[in-house]
Amino acid sequence: MGQAFACCKGLDFSHMQHHFAKGARQSFVLAAAAQQPSWVVDDMQDSCYGCAAEFNYRNRKHHCRRCHNIYCDACTAYREKLLLFGFTQAVRLCQMCLTAAREENSFLDDHLPLLQEGSTFLRHHGYGRKVPIFVKLSPDTASLVCMEPGRGAAGSSLVFLAEVRSVSMEHASTLVLQLQASSTTLKFDACSTNECRAWLEALQAACAWSQRPALKQAVEEARAARWEQLQYAQYSKAAAENRKQRQAAREQMAAKYNISSFSSSYAHRRAVSNGYAVS
Ligand SMILES: [Zn+2]
Ligand SMILES: [Zn+2]
Repeated sequence: MGQAFACCKGLDFSHMQHHFAKGARQSFVLAAAAQQPSWVVDDMQDSCYGCAAEFNYRNRKHHCRRCHNIYCDACTAYREKLLLFGFTQAVRLCQMCLTAAREENSFLDDHLPLLQEGSTFLRHHGYGRKVPIFVKLSPDTASLVCMEPGRGAAGSSLVFLAEVRSVSMEHASTLVLQLQASSTTLKFDACSTNECRAWLEALQAACAWSQRPALKQAVEEARAARWEQLQYAQYSKAAAENRKQRQAAREQMAAKYNISSFSSSYAHRRAVSNGYAVS
């Protein structure tokens, strides 16, 4: 299992709890907020990040409050709380962020309080031996902190959620954590079936949470790719416009010199541009 809790070396169980004060969720939200995607400044986009419609005095720019990209009003018509960044009231979101925000809110509202409050289980130690252990989620949500009451640092360990392969339940009230790297299986008896179920769901959500890609990086990578796409679309549009103008000029020329059948072959165009009528 993970390493001991170094900063609490030699101190007792009650002292260790100061690391997980009630403001844990708040500090977590602040830490996540520091990882927000960069804010796209207004001058950087003249068309909607979603539908590519051009902005003008009627089609105004709006920022999605989660990905911080610039959209038209229709593409940011969604409103939802954004607990990840500390918004407890509904804010303007794009469609992609609406789905993501709902998932995040569900974890932060429904599961995080239980995990951060922690609970006491009986941990299986082999040969039928079971030891009481206090388990709670670390403030950065990356690991489970397991503390054996009265044993200080020696009785503390971390289980990194990124290393958990699966969480399941057996015998009505036993949580089973299967770890990735080793073939280690951790078993914890909860005090009731209901408590076990609640922890099962919460731990599964926490594992998915800890293994999701970093928001800032994911948004900024997608943004770079999308901008390339938008630039290419703009370039293609300009090229098509150019072709149309050249075609119109040729037709004008053909009409002027009374050319009935106008071929686009090089020789014909050359002849026309040199001022010869070609039939
Ligand atoms: Zn749009
Ligand atoms: Zn968004």
